Amino acid sequence: MHRIQERNYWLDPPLLPAFAETPPARTDVLVIGSGFTGTTAAIRLRQAGFEVTVIDAKPLGTGASARNGGMVLSGLSDDLFAVIKRYGIDVARNLYHESIASVTAVERLVTEGHIDCAFQRSGFLFAACKPRHADALQRSRELLERAFGHATEWIPADRLREEIDTTVYHGALLEASDAGVHPARYSAGLIRMAQRLGVTLHENVTALAIAKHGKGLRVTTDKGPIMAGKVVVATNGYTGALTPWIRRRIVPVRSMMIATAPLPPERIRALIPHGRMIADTKTFLYYFRPSPDGTRILFGGRPRSTTRSLTENARFMRDNLVSVFPQLASVAVDYAWWGKLGFTLDHLPHAGQRDGVYYAMGFCGHGVALATHLGEKMAGLIQETASGKTAYTGLKFRAIPFYNERPWFLPLVYRFFSLRDRLL
Ligand SMILES: Cc1cc2nc3c(=O)[nH]c(=O)nc-3n(C[C@H](O)[C@H](O)[C@H](O)COP(=O)(O)OP(=O)(O)OC[C@H]3O[C@@H](n4cnc5c(N)ncnc54)[C@H](O)[C@@H]3O)c2cc1C
Repeated sequence: MHRIQERNYWLDPPLLPAFAETPPARTDVLVIGSGFTGTTAAIRLRQAGFEVTVIDAKPLGTGASARNGGMVLSGLSDDLFAVIKRYGIDVARNLYHESIASVTAVERLVTEGHIDCAFQRSGFLFAACKPRHADALQRSRELLERAFGHATEWIPADRLREEIDTTVYHGALLEASDAGVHPARYSAGLIRMAQRLGVTLHENVTALAIAKHGKGLRVTTDKGPIMAGKVVVATNGYTGALTPWIRRRIVPVRSMMIATAPLPPERIRALIPHGRMIADTKTFLYYFRPSPDGTRILFGGRPRSTTRSLTENARFMRDNLVSVFPQLASVAVDYAWWGKLGFTLDHLPHAGQRDGVYYAMGFCGHGVALATHLGEKMAGLIQETASGKTAYTGLKFRAIPFYNERPWFLPLVYRFFSLRDRLL
């Protein structure tokens, strides 16, 4: 029987060497977390003349930033009408326009750092699972054009086969300027770029506590204390006891991916002719794409149960893949892996500063572009320049009610939304 490898397809083979583990005793800015948010902030701060140190509890570049679908998306994770209702049209417009700029922020860094990561404006399709969802997507398209001056294209069900070789969807919204990337190569490229600029990078260093110390901060780590003028916390779905205030506002949610065995490129092109990034409209959505080399389908979603093995979950994910593409019923799965997303109460990322600690997180599965963008904004915020201006610092960052440490409510939430996905 074909054995599924419980490992990250993107990191086979590994992309980075080992990094030193003993951090310096002091630094201008300490960045905690080596994903897109942390490394982008580090790069821009170093370019502005700061002495910058990045630490990560794990080997560098192995968090969600190296595990995701590589979909470089504009737009917001929440329904646009709900965002307008909560924050008003002007704020919603700014959030949306920044999300479009965030795709360009990725492109700019890829070019500037000569990062070989298959960045391509392949376009993104948001596919409607039900006729009702198709109506809602068309209303969003109309709103985007009318209120935000932003054009997207509606692909009706009878034309959808030009885009995806399946009959399960009821039309799709095409955002033609969104992109795809090899996420682990992008992440490793940012780390190498930071290193070339003179950022000090250390892996397997866990930050345990942050306390005020004179005009700066003292960060206790398992490898000794670090004095820092400023601290950037870029821990997203891996946020823990280090920052109790943030932890009450971010719920870690696991998402998993599988990679099929290689197939002839013409077979992949027959399934997704234009190489689009694709997600659907369920709460527990499926997302899928061709691999950058065009030989595999990479397919992701919510695992069935995190108490079961990755291999068992991969079989469930494979059934989901076959429900979209029955023609792949006999195709084997080579790789299965998972990682953690950071969710917030309003389904939007939040950024800002509290007691000298800067943070940007809560990307709700939408972080390749926005984490890059908000990492840059954190650098601007620390320099107190106009480049730090962002609508994402102005949102009320609410705590999740009755939540402190253990997301006890997640099984209930999962059951409710699974039922809703099935019935409505
Ligand atoms: C399976 C999966 C698929 C996804 N697909 C997409 C997609 O296609 N498109 C999209 O836009 N988004 C996607 N996402 C979300 C996206 O990957 C994240 O939003 C983004 O990578 C967040 O980047 P980050 O730098 O904020 O956090 P991360 O990359 O998660 O980095 C956080 C780091 O902080 C470190 N850390 C935590 N606590 C400490 C501590 N106390 N001390 C030291 N270090 C610490 C962790 O070890 C980790 O390396 C996906 C996520 C997953 C898991």
